Amino acid sequence: MSNAPGSRFDDEHVVVTGGSAGIGVAIARRFVSLGARVTIAGRDESKLADAAQAIGASPMVCDVTDEAAVTRQFAAVAEANGPIGILINNAGAASATPFAKMQSEHWHAMLAVNLTGPWLCTKAVVGGMLEARRGRIVNIASTAALKGYAYVSAYCAAKHGVLGLTRSLALEFANRGITVNAVCPGYTDTDLVQRSLDKIVASTGRSRDEALAELTKVNPQGRLISPDEVADTVVWLCGEHAASITGQAIAIAGGEVM
Ligand code: NAD
Repeated sequence: MSNAPGSRFDDEHVVVTGGSAGIGVAIARRFVSLGARVTIAGRDESKLADAAQAIGASPMVCDVTDEAAVTRQFAAVAEANGPIGILINNAGAASATPFAKMQSEHWHAMLAVNLTGPWLCTKAVVGGMLEARRGRIVNIASTAALKGYAYVSAYCAAKHGVLGLTRSLALEFANRGITVNAVCPGYTDTDLVQRSLDKIVASTGRSRDEALAELTKVNPQGRLISPDEVADTVVWLCGEHAASITGQAIAIAGGEVM
């Protein structure tokens, strides 16, 4: 691992979950460009194959909430592409609902993908990292790990949980050559936010521009974050020179106050 600006990851096998779209594909593309062997994980085989081919990564069909699939697929890609030195827990989903109307399916679905998924994927790679005494784990959390937002309480609870997992594992592995960090983007320009805009437009009757202004007003820079900005921070955290940075939650949010 190396991380001076412009440095490379030639000997690394990187797994990015949710790697066929949005922030995940931006991270995967960046690691490929820096020489890493990159595996992208996702549920939709054909979407995954297209993305993998477009960026030069390997596809891994895997629902991160399915323990048996995670165990089996991570072992298979480690066998095929080498030990996994870097894990980016990016797969996630956000949906909104008023707390008083929330059904248990919603609660469990938010926790499964946003909290249990990172736990399962971390469990699948950590044995190899402990053996090698080196590794990097970056959890794509959210500003919703650092503060509350109305109508997404299950998502916020899951992302706060990811931060607790991050901080605890950072301490547990502090002397084992493994760092564990979280990055916490604000509203980022991906399908996830486009779907939120659709929902705001449909439920409030506001125009799309008004809905976008509502989301971006929490960012003092008054804009959406770009997926590449998140990728830059992730790559930096995975370099050799970030060895003393662990257990951190790095907000990428234009100065949004937490
Ligand atoms: P996205 O919807 O564009 O991409 C998410 C990816 O995760 C998709 O490819 C999706 O298919 C995949 N995924 C979902 N459930 C999965 C599962 N069970 N198993 C495997 N893959 C699964 O969203 P994005 O905006 O790129 O979000 C990426 C991460 O960033 C998420 O964890 C999200 O919570 C976080 N985040 C996003 C924003 C934002 O505003 N877009 C802000 C903060 C944090």
